[in-house]
Amino acid sequence: MNMQNKTFKRGLGLSLILVFLLSGCSNNDSANESAANAYPFSYSDTTMGTSFSIKVSQLPTGVRPKKVKIAIREKLEQINQQMSTYITDSELSRINSSTDMTSRFISEGLYKVVETAQEINHLSEGAYDITVGSLVNLWGFGPSKALSHTPKDEDIQKLLADVGSDKIVLTARLHTLSKTRPNLYMDLSSLAKGYAVDEIAAILDALKITHYMVEIGGELNIKGKNKQGKNWRIGVEAPNAKKRELLRVLPISDIAMATSGDYRNYFEQDGQRFSHTIDPRTGYPITHKLVSVTVLGDTTMKADAWATALMVLGPEKGYQIAEQQKLAVLFISKMGAGFLEQETPLFTEYTKRKGQ
Ligand code: ADP
Ligand code: MG
Repeated sequence: MNMQNKTFKRGLGLSLILVFLLSGCSNNDSANESAANAYPFSYSDTTMGTSFSIKVSQLPTGVRPKKVKIAIREKLEQINQQMSTYITDSELSRINSSTDMTSRFISEGLYKVVETAQEINHLSEGAYDITVGSLVNLWGFGPSKALSHTPKDEDIQKLLADVGSDKIVLTARLHTLSKTRPNLYMDLSSLAKGYAVDEIAAILDALKITHYMVEIGGELNIKGKNKQGKNWRIGVEAPNAKKRELLRVLPISDIAMATSGDYRNYFEQDGQRFSHTIDPRTGYPITHKLVSVTVLGDTTMKADAWATALMVLGPEKGYQIAEQQKLAVLFISKMGAGFLEQETPLFTEYTKRKGQ
């Protein structure tokens, strides 16, 4: 690589770690299409700037696959129209671009997601903060185009004045939101995928489907058994650029899971990597040695938000808060030429129990 290269690179980079599904029985099986097609219902496509995959291993009689597919498609379109920052006339984009600070009624979906974000902000001591949006954009990770140079410190400081969860006011009874700063910009990318996964799972639940796997961009919600009548098996790939190896196989069921990592979305300048996760307390991308954080939980939305929050907090403080909050988390950090895995007691307990 040319070290003098001043242009920013953004994109996929090396997939050092991947969370993927194992549809077969052996450890070396990766998800393969013919096996996927054998599911009575399977649906894969793209949404929210990433791919999604839904598999149902038993479809109740009378439930038509076409009907399920339409319901899922419509739900995804609705969520995007509520909370995407990439759609200029989405409900969220209209709030972000307006300088109006009066209270407004917001949709149930948007309310639920912002309310959860506020809760995780509090529990993470401010490390997780959806109002970091303007800085995400400044660093070139938002819908606006990529940068040609690192942002100026004075621009970062200026935007930091509009960052902070206290600048969002919600009223639970009326489902209203108001901003206390005209330029407040909310970014829900860190939990919207998780929310969408839960909403699709709820559609399947309502149709009395009890064996399914729903995944959007690596965030999952799993119930019941796979096609072989066994627990769904989730592979966590080892961070090895040369060889695809499995670090872990988690045989899990009835659980939500989300992973945050820096191996996919970053840009490079002069050989230095800049993460897409911004520390809202400094306005700069995080720099510690965490490679990825995987969180298990009841809802994918919370697991997704926590994965980002713990990524900001780092391996020490993050571990401490995860333990206090009784979260099931696997942290993977860079260590010399290798990687260090640390899991909270609940993660160990859960994966052991389910591994029986
Ligand atoms: P991914 O999009 O790779 O699944 P995450 O769920 O961790 O990763 O979300 C990262 C995104 O969240 C960033 O691209 C940015 O839009 C937003 N973000 C960055 N820093 C923060 C933060 N401190 N708190 C909340 N959201 C953040
Ligand atoms: Mg997240």
